[in-house]
Amino acid sequence: MDTIEADVVIVGGGPAGCTCALYTSRADLKTVLLDKNPAVGALAITHQIANYPGVDSEMSGEALLALMRDQAVTYGTDYRRAQVFSVDVNGEWKTVYTPEGTFKARALVVASGALGRPASFKGEAEYLGRGVSYCATCDGAFYKGREVAVVGFNKEAIEEAQVLTKFASTVHWLTANDPSADDQEAKELIAQPNVKHWSRSRLMLIEGDDGGVTGINVKNRSNDTEESLAVEGVFVYMSGSKPITDFLGDQVALKEDGGVVVDDFMATTVDGVWAIGDIRNTAFKQAVVAAADGCIAAMAIDRYLNSRKSIRVDWVHQ
Ligand SMILES: Cc1cc2nc3c(=O)[nH]c(=O)nc-3n(C[C@H](O)[C@H](O)[C@H](O)COP(=O)(O)OP(=O)(O)OC[C@H]3O[C@@H](n4cnc5c(N)ncnc54)[C@H](O)[C@@H]3O)c2cc1C
Repeated sequence: MDTIEADVVIVGGGPAGCTCALYTSRADLKTVLLDKNPAVGALAITHQIANYPGVDSEMSGEALLALMRDQAVTYGTDYRRAQVFSVDVNGEWKTVYTPEGTFKARALVVASGALGRPASFKGEAEYLGRGVSYCATCDGAFYKGREVAVVGFNKEAIEEAQVLTKFASTVHWLTANDPSADDQEAKELIAQPNVKHWSRSRLMLIEGDDGGVTGINVKNRSNDTEESLAVEGVFVYMSGSKPITDFLGDQVALKEDGGVVVDDFMATTVDGVWAIGDIRNTAFKQAVVAAADGCIAAMAIDRYLNSRKSIRVDWVHQ
């Protein structure tokens, strides 16, 4: 698979990542922005964003984010849909791994937000990486001809379940509620011949043995009955409120609350790595703050990569 080199690689295409990309691109730094899904970040799911300065108060978060992303791309950002599953931050060049390829840069920015969650289903943590996964694009091909379950109801769950239909013999889709009648994407998924939809259902238990997952227990909320399904893979897509740092391992320092430790320039404890937006887990989780973090990091990165003594401002003074 290809290895792509850039000056800056940014993980996460929310307001923090898009703003950082806009600024680094304008500073003539070759910038790659990796985003697992533009529809699932905190701003993307915000129905209406009435307090972002200068935009129509009726605007949806998704529309505002599309503007930010388009602006970064217009200035030269290479935006790619890709889920980062690990990074190596040792040495001058940082390496970022995704199912779509490997990326290398001297500056790495992490901006994956705080909609993560701890493994909370029974058996989830125990079988993580041994049948439990959060990335169908990464792991789907391992389940050719096998039965898998997808847990969750957001856009990511639906898209990832669609990916799995290409490999698995049966995709069991578990949702806590019924999809609304006008949910076209859900309808298309359920219409797939190898999808079995378990509506109003809860995942109760993931079980397995030394070889990995062997099955799950599912409870139907309407009639309180429980059923066992002999799946070998369980793909979980639920949102929480924990900084998404799993792909970092223990390579950068985290605070006790899980947020990434940064200095005034958004630099982490590792030289050449910055963290911006909700991943810092501050009390000020707002789109405008995330965008400001992105601007600060970008200007600090320009100084770092070009060995400048001072910050170069991004405006035209006439
Ligand atoms: C329901 C809700 C309503 C809100 N309302 C408001 C409001 O009205 N006004 C306001 O100012 N703020 C609001 N906020 C807060 C605001 O949306 C966040 O502070 C802001 O979006 C944080 O930006 P971010 O870029 O750090 O993260 P996010 O917006 O969460 O973006 C993170 C991005 O990273 C991507 N990502 C995650 N993991 C990976 C990975 N492994 N590889 C690649 N990409 C990855 C995600 O797909 C996503 O695109 C709201 C938040 C929520 C949840």
